[in-house]
Amino acid sequence: MPKVLDGAVIASEIKQEVAAEVKRLAARGVRPGLAAVLVGQVPASQIYVKSKVQACADLGLFSDLITPAETVTTEEMLALIATLNARDDIDGILVQLPLPKQVDAKLLLDAIDPAKDVDGFHPVNAGRLQAGRPALAPCTPAGVIEILKRSGIPIAGANAVVVGRSDIVGKPAAMLLLHENATVTICHSKTRDLGAVTRQADILVAAIGRPGFITPEMVKPGATVIDVGINRIETREEFDRFFKGNEKREAAFTKRGSVIVGDVHPKAFEVAGAYTPVPGGVGLLTIAMLMANTVRAAKMRRGL
Ligand code: NDP
Repeated sequence: MPKVLDGAVIASEIKQEVAAEVKRLAARGVRPGLAAVLVGQVPASQIYVKSKVQACADLGLFSDLITPAETVTTEEMLALIATLNARDDIDGILVQLPLPKQVDAKLLLDAIDPAKDVDGFHPVNAGRLQAGRPALAPCTPAGVIEILKRSGIPIAGANAVVVGRSDIVGKPAAMLLLHENATVTICHSKTRDLGAVTRQADILVAAIGRPGFITPEMVKPGATVIDVGINRIETREEFDRFFKGNEKREAAFTKRGSVIVGDVHPKAFEVAGAYTPVPGGVGLLTIAMLMANTVRAAKMRRGL
């Protein structure tokens, strides 16, 4: 039976460490603070931001939730970012994406002080990460590395294949794996004979955004499979393609009318030696790593 790499257990471990560090900092008169900027009324964004603010409260960080109206302009948002950059009680600035289309998201993210860029999206942090300098790394890929390390999966010397090359997941995941001395291959939509490449992977990271895209024959038997994907399935046809006969999922689908599937087909996990489930895997690490990044930013800014 493949080993399940339980995101809940690892996220809780990291959160406990963050809470302990927050206590140590409190003794020195420092309270790390996160500004969470949530524009408009996108339900998924509201849920994400609420969880982030709640995590701050649970771990003893200060948080400030700022909710500009849906009609906010780029100029108004830039002014807000400038204020947050200048505030001494704020160590991390998080702008929840997506933003309304009248707002220039790139311009905005580039305006965040790199020292407060706890999402790790700023080009300065991307460059520092690439150059192997201390950087705030994007939370989801950083979570992938934590899962591997804390589960005792050897990374040095392993063949790691990352499917997906986005700036927020695929590329930084590849860079972090490289820094851990894996031999890294990055695949994307133009990769030829993708299965032949993924079958070489000791560690396969799927960050594609396509439900169940990685099939059993694409996985090397015994490999560690990290499924970053989060895709909502809403039709019976799609449900049956992934979960036919799975009673637990069937009950969830009947109750809610949808279920979540990763970028890896559930049958492909059976070939693996270890894997992260969806839900319950990488997704749970993202908020834990955001908290860890905020504490790190607080320390780095004060030279601690
Ligand atoms: P993007 O859409 O930005 O990137 C997807 C990548 O997959 C692209 O590089 C694309 O290649 C590649 N791709 C698409 N189709 C194929 C294909 N047929 N064969 C090979 N490669 C392909 O997605 P993200 O990186 O933002 O997200 C990836 C997944 O991770 C999504 O499911 C998302 O929901 C999830 N996610 C989960 C998070 C978490 O907290 N767990 C956080 C962020 C994302 P190309 O560049 O050539 O177009």
